[in-house]
Amino acid sequence: MIHVVHHPAYVTEAPARSTYRWGKNGAIRDLLRAKGDAVAWTEPELIPPIWLEAVHDPDYVAEVLEARVPPDKTRRIGFPITEQVAHRARAVPGGTWAAALLALEHGFAANTAGGSHHALANTGAGYCVFNDLAVAAVRLVEQGIVGRVAIVDCDVHQGDGTAALTAGRPDIVTYSIHAEKNFPARKARSTLDVGLPDGVDDDGYLAELAATLTPFLDEHRPDFILYQAGVDPFVEDRLGRLSLTREGLIARENLIADLALARRLPVASTVGGGYGDDVMAIAERHVTAIQTLGERLSHRNPAEAEA
Ligand SMILES: [Zn+2]
Repeated sequence: MIHVVHHPAYVTEAPARSTYRWGKNGAIRDLLRAKGDAVAWTEPELIPPIWLEAVHDPDYVAEVLEARVPPDKTRRIGFPITEQVAHRARAVPGGTWAAALLALEHGFAANTAGGSHHALANTGAGYCVFNDLAVAAVRLVEQGIVGRVAIVDCDVHQGDGTAALTAGRPDIVTYSIHAEKNFPARKARSTLDVGLPDGVDDDGYLAELAATLTPFLDEHRPDFILYQAGVDPFVEDRLGRLSLTREGLIARENLIADLALARRLPVASTVGGGYGDDVMAIAERHVTAIQTLGERLSHRNPAEAEA
């Protein structure tokens, strides 16, 4: 049984002027629904604004929630913030938060949206409105639920917003493995950044991931992993610069799962990047990630949770 968090607002129609394809969240839902009883569904609550304000500038939070984001920020985000989009922007961090709580109980849970790692304190950016990863991590530690969270970001783009929003906190550590020449041009400083050259293949990627994430987890000893499982390192991704195959992405999820299992760390995953014309193919890659992680990490019975 894999615990999956989904909110109907994720599938909100994209504003007409957007080039961003929101249909993939609906496709992810449909592919997971087809798995029947193998998936346990949870609909999250909207995140309370106070937790958005714990990482974002309250003025920016108000601009989004009141759907009056100025044009310069709209351009940085990549789509206009309508009332529907604002509603979605509260549902998504609510989903990552819900997935985190489910992961603590069941070993693993996935949000079918989120991974909005480019969102900064006073503006969204790169198709990200609020940074659900930072919001959930800050809430986990500030409510005393866990001592230290590691945000592990395998999207092909650097998790610059997440790094900036959590910088200097001893209770949150950030790891980002990405294509160095990709967006954002100006990188932030994660606790550990692994910038890869263009064209890295499965073997090169997996070796670098194992060689850097293993010591990172051992040095910082987190109690929990929030995992941004972007699938844009895929070879055919429109915005990626790396050359991972489908098998390489599956091996990546198995590696993440094994590192977490060896340290008895719960994992909550979000989606993330995945770009191209074939929305179903992209959704399938996200679902494969969720399924691979879920099969490895979900507790099969309560006794396993105690082990
Ligand atoms: Zn990306």
